[in-house]
Amino acid sequence: MPRMPSRPAAAPEARRQARRAWTLLHQDAKQALALAEAALAAAGDDNATLAAALLARGFHRLYFATPAEAAADLEAAYTIFLARGDRAGQILAAAGQARAMWRSGRFREALERVLPLRDEGLQVLRHEQRGVLLNTIAGGYSAQGRSDRAFAYMYEALRDARPARGHGFDTVLHCNISHELLQLGDCHEALRHIDSGLDRCRRMQNQRLESVLLINRVLALTDLERPAEALPDVRRVLEMPANPDGRGPMAAHFETLAIAALRAGDAALGADLVARAHAAPHAPIPDEHVELAVADALLALAHGDAQAALAGVHAARALVEAPAEGLSLRAQCLYLQTLSEVHERRGDADAALAAMRRWRDVQMKRAENASQARYQAAALQTELLRLQHQVEEHDARRREMEAMNRQLARRVAEVQALQAALRDQATRDELTGLFNRRHLNETLPAMLALAQREAQPLAVAIIDLDHFKQVNDRHGHGVGDLLLAAFGRLLAESSRKSDVACRYGGEEFCLLMPRTDAAGARRKVGALLRRWRSAVFDVGNGHQGGFTFSAGVADSQRCPGTIEQLLKAADDELLAAKRLGRNRVRAADAAPLAVA
Ligand code: GH3
Ligand code: MG
Ligand code: MG
Repeated sequence: MPRMPSRPAAAPEARRQARRAWTLLHQDAKQALALAEAALAAAGDDNATLAAALLARGFHRLYFATPAEAAADLEAAYTIFLARGDRAGQILAAAGQARAMWRSGRFREALERVLPLRDEGLQVLRHEQRGVLLNTIAGGYSAQGRSDRAFAYMYEALRDARPARGHGFDTVLHCNISHELLQLGDCHEALRHIDSGLDRCRRMQNQRLESVLLINRVLALTDLERPAEALPDVRRVLEMPANPDGRGPMAAHFETLAIAALRAGDAALGADLVARAHAAPHAPIPDEHVELAVADALLALAHGDAQAALAGVHAARALVEAPAEGLSLRAQCLYLQTLSEVHERRGDADAALAAMRRWRDVQMKRAENASQARYQAAALQTELLRLQHQVEEHDARRREMEAMNRQLARRVAEVQALQAALRDQATRDELTGLFNRRHLNETLPAMLALAQREAQPLAVAIIDLDHFKQVNDRHGHGVGDLLLAAFGRLLAESSRKSDVACRYGGEEFCLLMPRTDAAGARRKVGALLRRWRSAVFDVGNGHQGGFTFSAGVADSQRCPGTIEQLLKAADDELLAAKRLGRNRVRAADAAPLAVA
């Protein structure tokens, strides 16, 4: 008879379970937990299995339990990995510990815990494990308002955790990227990532992740002033069981859902959600507290009690007046916007205006952050070329220079990730296929400089579709979108190769025409107006045409000065065209022309 092995027979099975628990963390959260628990029970004195199982359960608890409960497992795992000299295990456990700190509002500490491990972590970790580390670093930068860095890390993480080998971690990244985009106000781009994430969720068993994506979509739609469209998502989240089989008992963000319901005019649902938000436990995350105060204020307004609304919103006053660590500009905007509304309802126009002014200042800072993220990408492009050259040089003396090369290559990868990220979301508006405002802001300075060098006029037209809100109200948002897309095509068709046609904002467009003066531009936009008026569309319950727009044009020779002055001249003419009854094109410094 062969001798019985001295190790218990369950050990290899427990080891397999612990590994599988990690793999399934995102794809099947419940199964992952069951496997981790089974591995813990069967590990005996097999420390490697014990540590792997604690690591998996610790990460599970980051989503489904309190940060303190998660931290306990992760610390135990870290201690064992340390004793075994397992660097990859230590770094992953440390990333989990940092994430637990982050979830308790200890943002700076979290970044300090994990940043020193970056270079080594990227060498010893693989695929989604690298993604976990990079995502944790991104979270730290995000809390500091450093969106440029947060994006660079998240996009690099996304590359490491591709669907084929990321075990579902890419879904977490789509979720976090969408959140960062929402902080900057890039709602449409955020919606794209949310949809990618939800699409991935269909093949996974993880309602926690799905609920967070849905909450982000609620946030996006509320910000886009389409809260009614968010209500199905709100209900879907509420239907998910608040236990480990469903979305989990933690962080349900009822306050975010409440704001959507109240903005959509559903006071009963709003009241229910506000009550749930107060009953739920809240970590000291400043954004959550601001949203809770805003929800309270909106509920009081819905009940017609402006005084109570003021008390409600003021509950977040201290957090915003001396901005708490990790408080986002988005939350500050939300606070100030609500404060202004409340003052207005109280009849205090001065206070309402003062809050509105502050809102505008913060909003500008937010836009600045967004363009900072893009600007840095441009600067990095130059650096990338320089670095690539250096890498080649160093390659020849690789042996001596190996350590340095690794660092350089790392930096190149970071820069490339950032570039790819920005290229991806850079220039196009999805709905119309035209350039977006970002691209306009980037190209206009060069075009104006070229026009001045050539001593040629550069014409700018700003076009705003008339009474477009009525189109949405009468025929629905879908038809509105259809018309916007059709106008985009028309504008593209009517443009020359050298023209730059952009979607400027909702139903506003901007056309840049090099070597064209205001009179020529006015004729051209006038012809466009005639074509738009004669276009007929299927609006669902029949066909309709006769849509109009108003436009203002200006050129750089008649309106010399800065880009802002040129745009303002066109915008002033647009406003005058609206005032005079719409359906016309006006040019700066030229006689007004109504297109008959
Ligand atoms: P005016 O003639 O004064 O310009 O009236 P208006 O209704 O066009 O102007 P207003 O600024 O009040 O409303 C703009 C509308 O455009 C409201 C908004 O819902 C709609 N809009 C903005 N972006 C989109 C979009 O992406 N899709 C759809 N369907 N509608 C949009
Ligand atoms: Mg408009
Ligand atoms: Mg309009």
